[in-house]
Amino acid sequence: MPGPDRNLQSVNLDAGWAPESWRARPSTQLPAYPDARALQETLAELRALPPLVTSWEILALKQRLAEAQDGRRFLLQGGDCAENFGDCSPDVISNRLKVLLQMSLVLVHGLHLPVVRVGRFAGQYAKPRSLDTETVDGTTLPSYRGDIVNAPEFDARARTPDPQRMIRAHARSAMTMNFVRALIDGGFADLHHPEYWNLDWVGHSPLADEYRRMVVGIGDAVRFMETLSGNAVNNLDRVDFYTSHEALLLPYEEAQTRQVPRQWGWFNLGTHFPWVGMRTAAADGAHVEYLRGIRNPVALKVGPSVAPEQLLRLVDVLNPDDEAGRLTLIHRMGATQVANKLPPLLDALRRDGRRVLWVCDPMHGNTEVTSNGYKTRRFANIRSELEQAFELHAAAGTRLGGVHLELTGEDVTECTGGARALTDADLARAYRSTVDPRLNYEQALEIAMLIVRKQAQ
Ligand code: PEP
Ligand code: MN
Repeated sequence: MPGPDRNLQSVNLDAGWAPESWRARPSTQLPAYPDARALQETLAELRALPPLVTSWEILALKQRLAEAQDGRRFLLQGGDCAENFGDCSPDVISNRLKVLLQMSLVLVHGLHLPVVRVGRFAGQYAKPRSLDTETVDGTTLPSYRGDIVNAPEFDARARTPDPQRMIRAHARSAMTMNFVRALIDGGFADLHHPEYWNLDWVGHSPLADEYRRMVVGIGDAVRFMETLSGNAVNNLDRVDFYTSHEALLLPYEEAQTRQVPRQWGWFNLGTHFPWVGMRTAAADGAHVEYLRGIRNPVALKVGPSVAPEQLLRLVDVLNPDDEAGRLTLIHRMGATQVANKLPPLLDALRRDGRRVLWVCDPMHGNTEVTSNGYKTRRFANIRSELEQAFELHAAAGTRLGGVHLELTGEDVTECTGGARALTDADLARAYRSTVDPRLNYEQALEIAMLIVRKQAQ
């Protein structure tokens, strides 16, 4: 077929790919469902439900990510490590949205660039685990793999994978999405009213003055432009928000994989922007096989064990035609390893002339357990990895085009440090995550301010 899309068509319509072709590949991290028939019935039900997103939105996001690759946008991707069913509530959702909007305001103002906002939500219900089972007092049960698979309580019933949980996860994703869309369409994200996004910390944080000055400055600029033009400045009352999650539970992802009228190929319509995690990133494995065939923009987590040749192979598999906006690489090396591990990867891709969007996840390489038994991350290490990442990209002639963060709009104490200098002893006060520790609203804002300062240097 002639036309501008001809080359792109070959990208993902590789011989042998189908929504279920991952099933023939070696896989890890997938639960063993005890009742195969119940699983099949649930998947049939899921396949028949309406999609959560549209192909138009997916292609629009791909375009924005292509602009971020070219240095014309910055990607802000963030949310919980894992959503859980109990937190599908108006406060949790709107507070998370508020902190992401506040962060994007800081970034837009400081970087002078439009920001692409992508939530780690509306589907982030599956978790990779280091061990398949957990043993307590001599009893061994399957590990908790996220609310889409089983429940965290340590008893046999709770830990048995239940396919019906996929239906509940899908419904909660739809509710989350619906609420976020309604808030944004109703004017919640209006730049004329950043006070809508105020969270408790704005009243008493050491960062509050800097944030307030920025808000006043932006308000003045908006009014000035409107006075000049005699019109409302276009689009300030609207922002776009996209969703993402780890494409881990492949039977669920397969059921969201659809064809769309007047579009070629296949889309995952359960999220705009799926990624493959570090533990499932084998080039010939099931997860990469699934991701390579869909037309969504996709991301890959890159950890310290990935060698340059391995990464080049993954890039070839996931983006053989070097399509703009298609592939994001999220590096997560840890503050102590990033200076050694990242530059060879940056050099290899640059030498090969490959087009990717580089993003830093300064969370997952910096997880540790305190002496009192809490999984935490130290703000100083998160900050250090991020600052080093900006410097390493600058030195390599590549561009760090975004950040990927685990954060919440709640006042939790899960990561230590930050403007309020939380200590290990503070963790007990408000530790709520069942998986990884998140930045609280104030620490998240501090990261946004830090990015701006770093880029201004
Ligand atoms: C995560 O993003 O929650 C995660 C498990 O990351 P990674 O695959 O990078 O370890
Ligand atoms: Mn995590």
